Amino acid sequence: MRNDFKISYSRINTYLFCSYKYKLIYVDNLYIPLNANITFGHIIHKSLESFHRGQRHSLEILFECYDEAWKNDGFAYPQQIFEYYKHGRQILKNYYKSFCKIKSKVLYVEKAFDTNIGKYRFIGIIDRIDKYPDGSYEIIDYKTHMKVWNQEDVDKDLQLSFYAYACKNVFNFYPSKISMYFLSENKKVYTKRLQNEILDAISIATTIAENIAAENFNPNISKCQNCDFKLKCKHSKYKTEK
Ligand code: SF4
Repeated sequence: MRNDFKISYSRINTYLFCSYKYKLIYVDNLYIPLNANITFGHIIHKSLESFHRGQRHSLEILFECYDEAWKNDGFAYPQQIFEYYKHGRQILKNYYKSFCKIKSKVLYVEKAFDTNIGKYRFIGIIDRIDKYPDGSYEIIDYKTHMKVWNQEDVDKDLQLSFYAYACKNVFNFYPSKISMYFLSENKKVYTKRLQNEILDAISIATTIAENIAAENFNPNISKCQNCDFKLKCKHSKYKTEK
């Protein structure tokens, strides 16, 4: 096992999609080509991080953060840049309107944790942690894609289970609220995590970490059609490169 071996939600999620894709990214160090959705997600996360780290809050300041975070990488054509930019401003306008009404205090943004699951190092970053006047906490995960997930998908989401684990084991509090914030629709979907659900997630993470450590990287060709590497992976039937 490499000395820098670590697991995270992204790594686990990639492994679950296709373990060979995991190898391409995290062992062979291939980069996923940027696209508009990836860049846009980074821009919105960065804008909200800068906004909440600042002392003063107004819509104008939020737009300034957005302009500072903006970059054109990954967009396919100029009109697409314009459309995403406009969409982003609308997202932030709705976000700000809701932010003005919240009763909680934004305690942390982009809060990193570094802990262990069994003998494996486990890292992650939580988008936002709020504290309410009654002393309770909420962890919030931002999503920038258009589709709002249904309750069942949010309830089963592994990432939120890992965040609940981190709050308990690293930050020493248990979040009474856990939410996925679908920014495009300005809609939050709330969920909870029971101890047994957190333990199930930890068990999945441990099993995957063991498989990664054993270098079990079998291609899952049923996923090739939706894979970033479908044009270059040697196992893909869509491969065009020699
Ligand atoms: S192209 Fe297919 S086999 Fe190759 S990494 Fe992607 S999903 Fe896995």
